[in-house]
Amino acid sequence: MKTIQEETAQILAGLGVAREAYEGGALAVHTPITGEVIGRVRTNTEAETTQVIAATAAAFLEWRKVPAPKRGELVRLLGEELRAAKTELGRLVTIEAGKIISEGLGEVQEMIDICTFAAGLSRQLCGLTIATERPLHRMMETWHPLGVTGIISAFNFPVAVWSWNAALALVCGNSVVWKPSEKTPLTALATQALFERAVAKFGEAPAGLSAVLNGGKEIGEALAANRQVPLVSATGSTAMGRQVGPKLAERFARSILELGGNNAAIVCESADLDLTLRGIAFSAMGTAGQRCTTLRRLLVHDSLYDKLLPRLKQIYKSVVVGDPRENGTLVGPLIDGRAFEGMQQSLAEAKAAGAAITGGERINVPGCDGGYYVRPALVEMKEQTATMKRETFAPLLYVMRFRQLDEALHWHNDVPQGLASSIFTNDLREAERFVSAEGSDCGIANVNIGPSGAEIGGAFGGEKETGGGRESGSDVWKLYMRRATNTINYGRELPLAQGVKFDVV
Ligand code: NAD
Repeated sequence: MKTIQEETAQILAGLGVAREAYEGGALAVHTPITGEVIGRVRTNTEAETTQVIAATAAAFLEWRKVPAPKRGELVRLLGEELRAAKTELGRLVTIEAGKIISEGLGEVQEMIDICTFAAGLSRQLCGLTIATERPLHRMMETWHPLGVTGIISAFNFPVAVWSWNAALALVCGNSVVWKPSEKTPLTALATQALFERAVAKFGEAPAGLSAVLNGGKEIGEALAANRQVPLVSATGSTAMGRQVGPKLAERFARSILELGGNNAAIVCESADLDLTLRGIAFSAMGTAGQRCTTLRRLLVHDSLYDKLLPRLKQIYKSVVVGDPRENGTLVGPLIDGRAFEGMQQSLAEAKAAGAAITGGERINVPGCDGGYYVRPALVEMKEQTATMKRETFAPLLYVMRFRQLDEALHWHNDVPQGLASSIFTNDLREAERFVSAEGSDCGIANVNIGPSGAEIGGAFGGEKETGGGRESGSDVWKLYMRRATNTINYGRELPLAQGVKFDVV
């Protein structure tokens, strides 16, 4: 049997990553499955970072001239490469980020889907023609490429986040510089290699159109500070956004901030219990609770609480936690020991506040001694404490009773974050109220679906400390372009707007 290091090297070689990129470098990459080192990635210096950004800025000057549908062809080819490599790249996501196999594959599927979306979009980048008050004039909007798009990504979606941004940025005529999480640089190198394969088939893309810079947060800081980068899309913790956002604002650059969530679901009296339990289980325990959209707070109607809780506890006790490579595993490891400590800290705080806790303990998985595996935790709370208002990036679900929907909506929104949310109900009035202006204050508000597992067709992102950014579908492409309003006079007179007279000749 191959070791995990041998398998990693084999996948990387098969995907076209050069050995020197992941051997002998300063950045040790650990698999969360066993905690072992699976690569040593070469990191980029400050000088290299500046050079790479300059090369990407030069590539932009050429790429912006290529017609958008042709740019879409490159992204379509990227989608084809991803389709062909789905199994291998998905497996690498499992090895490097610890996702179960179907979620690793699902992440690559998301990349394929956004490429399909962006390729179509490349023929639909369109502005308005607007009625003008002046005769023989035409007023319209044109959308132009913006420049280098910087992408900073988090460990938990090591490749999909890049694709949400890059596929749109590229069809919009931008070049791309990516700073992946220092915990997941291998999947980034593999993705870049696939991009280069697509470029080779495309034939005419400028050199340096997309680049990866590996290293710690100092590379992200350099990206945020570099005046050749007019837009940075940064995905990660709210603490990171608090540093990156002001840096970009200081130089009037654009930002797309996709930060922490603290997502809740309200379970009403009329909810379909079986459907609700399935929705809760996936969104609270999927990806071992390490999705920005993970369900973290469950507000259950008093009349249903004593029926729902015992069944949920049973699910929590029996869910298969283990090696994510094994068929049947539903919950893989936490990313590292720090994540485990963060979870234990929140559990201790909840306990001190009087919570009743089921699960939460470390589990020994044979053959995976160095991995941090935990039994997902259910934490019954009497009130919404300060601990509950903080995002704990682990499978930890706080549960509370409510009596009135007003009360539940108040608790629902009474946290600093505003990413994803759900209501489980069969009452039309409750469902409509939840998605109305006086309901959920989040960027994503679902009915009879858990808060996680969004599709690429919609705009993805959240409010408040989640950062306000939007990525992926709908009209999000506009964030990657600059808008010009053009007024064209095709007459012989020069009528001024608002009836102003200024006769000089
Ligand atoms: P993190 O904030 O530790 O790191 C994210 C990225 O930011 C990394 O690439 C890191 O190197 C970089 N970074 C950190 N400090 C920086 C700085 N000062 N300047 C520039 N770059 C900096 O996050 P993580 O632990 O990798 O990911 C988990 C977090 O990401 C959670 O809070 C989760 O909710 C959030 N997340 C949000 C979304 C979303 O779409 N809203 C998606 C995925 C993850």
